[in-house]
Amino acid sequence: MSEPQKPKIRVFLEGRYRKLVRRLPQTIFYCPNCKGRRRGCARCDGYGKLTKDSVQELIARKVLPRYKARKGRFHGAGREDINVRMLGTGRPFVFEVVHPKNLLIDLDEIVESVNRYGEGRIEITNLVPVNRRRVAELKESPSDKIYRALVGVREPECLDDALALAGRVVDITQRTPKRVAHRRADKQRERRVEILSVAVVDDECVREYWDGVCLAFEVRCEHGTYVKEWISGEEGRTTPSLAQLVGCRTACLALDVLDVIGPFPPLQDQQAPEFEDQLEWPVSDDDDSWDLADASFSVSADSDDDEDEDDAVLSEREDGGAA
Ligand SMILES: [Zn+2]
Repeated sequence: MSEPQKPKIRVFLEGRYRKLVRRLPQTIFYCPNCKGRRRGCARCDGYGKLTKDSVQELIARKVLPRYKARKGRFHGAGREDINVRMLGTGRPFVFEVVHPKNLLIDLDEIVESVNRYGEGRIEITNLVPVNRRRVAELKESPSDKIYRALVGVREPECLDDALALAGRVVDITQRTPKRVAHRRADKQRERRVEILSVAVVDDECVREYWDGVCLAFEVRCEHGTYVKEWISGEEGRTTPSLAQLVGCRTACLALDVLDVIGPFPPLQDQQAPEFEDQLEWPVSDDDDSWDLADASFSVSADSDDDEDEDDAVLSEREDGGAA
C-alpha cells in the first residue's frame, strides 16, 4: 500500500480589479500560433505570449509565492478587450490558488503587495476568501455595463443630432460581430442600450488623430452587447447603430468600462478612483493599436468586450516565480 496522499486543496479569493491602462489583457495572452508552446515559433520569438503582462499575471506574481503554490487560475465576471480600461469600482473576479502549501496568509498584505507591484496599471480591492461555487456564480451572473466611449464623428453637421441623443433608450438588434464569428454562432440578439450622456470633447491629443468632431458618450448596455459594433454599426449588422441615430459615420476611438452592474457583493470602500485624464488618449504612433492615424471607420479588436471566455491557467513554468 502506498502512503495516504496529503490532501490537495484549492483556495478561492474573490475581489475586484481596476485596469488603469490600455494594452493590458485580462488573462495571459498566449501566442495564437504556438498556443504557448514556444519552441521555434516565429510569431512570438519563442516567448509563448504576445504581451509580457496581464491582470492575471500581475496578481499571480504576488499571490502564488505567498501561498507557496505553483499554479493559479483567473476567473473574471466577463472581460474587457485588451485596449479597454476597467475603471469605476472595478470588475469582480475570483483568483484560484491551486494546491497551496502555506495557508497562513494576511490578505490585506497581499492586496497591498499587488497594488504596489501593479501601481499605475492595476488595483485590486475587497479580497476575501470564498468557496469554489462562486466561480460559476460569477460567470453566470448577467451584468449590465456602463461604458464611456470616445466617438469620432466625421461630419460636423451631425453634432446637434448627436447631442440630442442624451437620455435616449434604444432597443437594438445585433448580429454576432465578424471578429468573433469564427468561434461563436452567428445569431441575432436583442439588446437595450441607454445613452446616459453626450459631451463634446475638445482635446489636443485627440485632434492629432481625428480631424472631425469628437464626442464622449456614456452608455449603459445590457449584458452581452457588443458596444464597439453598436457604435459603428458594422455594415448593418447592428441596427439601429449609433451611426444611424446620429446620421453620420462614427468610429469608436477609445473605450472604458465605468461600471459592471450585477448581483455582486457590496464594496467595503465605495470610492471609485479619480483620473485627471479620463480617457487617456492614445498619444503616439507606437501606441496606435486602434489605427487612429489612418482615421479608419472600422475599428477592429482582438477579443470581446464583455463576453465570458475560457479560464486561463497560470503555471510555474510561465510565471510562478516571485518578482
Ligand atoms: Zn508563438
